[in-house]
Amino acid sequence: MALNSETSHHCAELALAALRKTGLAATPRNYELWYAHVEGKNPALSAHIQKAMDASGKVTQEKADALYHKLVQHADISNDVIDLMTRFHSEVADLYEVVEKTGENAHGHSEKLIDISDQLRDSTEKYPAVGALLEGVIAVAKTMREENEYLEERLAASIEEVNNLQRDVESIQREAMQDALTGVANRATFDRSLEKHMSEAMESGEPLALVLGDIDHFKTFNDTWGHQTGDQVLRLVAEVMNANVKGMDLLARYGGEEFAVVLPGTSLENAHRVAEKIRVAVESRRLRKRRTDEDLGMITMSMGVAQLRAKDTMESFIERADACLYAAKSSGRNRVTDEKELKGPAAEAQKGVA
Ligand code: GH3
Ligand code: MG
Ligand code: MG
Repeated sequence: MALNSETSHHCAELALAALRKTGLAATPRNYELWYAHVEGKNPALSAHIQKAMDASGKVTQEKADALYHKLVQHADISNDVIDLMTRFHSEVADLYEVVEKTGENAHGHSEKLIDISDQLRDSTEKYPAVGALLEGVIAVAKTMREENEYLEERLAASIEEVNNLQRDVESIQREAMQDALTGVANRATFDRSLEKHMSEAMESGEPLALVLGDIDHFKTFNDTWGHQTGDQVLRLVAEVMNANVKGMDLLARYGGEEFAVVLPGTSLENAHRVAEKIRVAVESRRLRKRRTDEDLGMITMSMGVAQLRAKDTMESFIERADACLYAAKSSGRNRVTDEKELKGPAAEAQKGVA
């Protein structure tokens, strides 16, 4: 090759920088002119370039074209080489755009640059007169790839940081919505979800059901086996309940040993069926102490089921489900009571929101 690569690299950088100052586009021809200029081997050309500049160092494309025709020898630059350089230029332009705008897909562009540089190198062997110039182009391509790689690294680091931040935000959001012990939705999420589903159901006329469940004699269980074992049981109950609710249904820990299920688009009868399935699933679990494998017997749940009425507020809806739960407790526990089964004063009290 005509020049050692360090010199041509340096010239290539200077040429590109000088060309940018003139306000001219980095087309192959302009680049060729400024490369020859900074290389300093053509004093006549350098003098003409200096003359073509206005007071602020700008050069018009017209003047650059005239200089090119007058002073640059390019008889043996074939159309193929010009084509390749044009493609190179468009890749450079693309790259700048990419780098300036988003930095996306920068890797692909740098690969293409090197690819085209290699093609340019092949052509150089056929057209020795453009050797130095193309060496410079190759050097520019390499510099760009290096810079590009640096940029890619920084982009990758930034993307990683953004991903980490997003993960943090998501986990904070999840924590704020979940009950820490059982992992199901917490009371705040239940309130929001119920409010949303109530207004949707009121608007659409679709049914909405609410199940409130409470573990039977849980105080005795805690007193017998200890609070920590009680916590394990709460986790297990949440798991069993979760396995029996589907789709849009929302399971939440409503209070200490109380759970709620919001069932959009579900009739009272179907909600009763869901509650019954949960009740059976809970009572059929045999409990064992983790460390000692001691038999803890079984636990049961009582549940109340209500259906949304036109005049309901959140308070009246929850109150009705709670009245049903209370009825299930007082009629013996380990059972499901829905609002149609309410009797006596409890039923009378609900007539106000009929
Ligand atoms: P009932 O059948 O009438 O519901 O009787 P109960 O003993 O379940 O009802 P009560 O309201 O008297 O007691 C609820 C108990 O639930 C009190 C407490 O020991 C237990 N409990 C509430 N929250 C937790 C918790 O986070 N962990 C544990 N281990 N126990 C809890
Ligand atoms: Mg309770
Ligand atoms: Mg209880």
